[in-house]
Amino acid sequence: MKKHLRSATASPREQTGINFISEKWLESKDKLVGGRTDLIIEETDEIEIIDFKTGAITEDVFDDNGESYLEVKNEYQEQLKLYAYLYFDCNGRFPTQLSLVDLAKQKFNVEFTEEECKAVFEEAKNLLTETNNSIAGTTFKANPSEANCKFCLYRPACKFYLQFLSAENYFNDVCGLVKDVVKYQNGNVSVFVEKGSNKISVTGFATDKFEYFNSNRNKQINFFNLRKEATEFVYSATKTTKIYE
Ligand code: SF4
Repeated sequence: MKKHLRSATASPREQTGINFISEKWLESKDKLVGGRTDLIIEETDEIEIIDFKTGAITEDVFDDNGESYLEVKNEYQEQLKLYAYLYFDCNGRFPTQLSLVDLAKQKFNVEFTEEECKAVFEEAKNLLTETNNSIAGTTFKANPSEANCKFCLYRPACKFYLQFLSAENYFNDVCGLVKDVVKYQNGNVSVFVEKGSNKISVTGFATDKFEYFNSNRNKQINFFNLRKEATEFVYSATKTTKIYE
């Protein structure tokens, strides 16, 4: 029978021989599933993964007799079980404890088995495969537009957006064939890109980009996070500009 999972606040640990790892990115060996843990505490025989939450960690659930009790939210349990499997995939052993901590520093234990962790991982991979299949097929169709995509970090990997970008000019992103590159006396580099019948200048790159663009003439390059200048078809590089082939 399900039970209330809240545990007493953990007693302080000795500081010797303990490895505290914060903000650790864990990913499966096949690179398909990953996640960033808030804190991992590694000791010789114990490994704890902790996630910090700003909102409520538990929710009311009802048992078979209709009585309510508090339980850690299912999505949080699954999140930590997924981390546990990813930790295992990276390190060859499972953590011994999974915990959630709220703003009041209350600690909640998440019980788990290795089988449960593996099942959550498999579920995540299946979801990814199904999503990718529906995107690759005709089931899923995105609706790219400046308003929809402006702040989306997936732009470089989104085929819908890239198709859209190849036909539009008003974004702060540019795609096209590299036709020319110029290095000025002050060291700044400009690259000239052709997109259909449009000729686009992208200025303000550092000197070390000259060779890169020069060796990519007539190749398709995608630029993200440029600054669109007042003159049409002129953009300049910013600190956050990224280039993908
Ligand atoms: S870039 Fe792609 S994923 Fe992002 S909002 Fe636009 S259509 Fe959606």
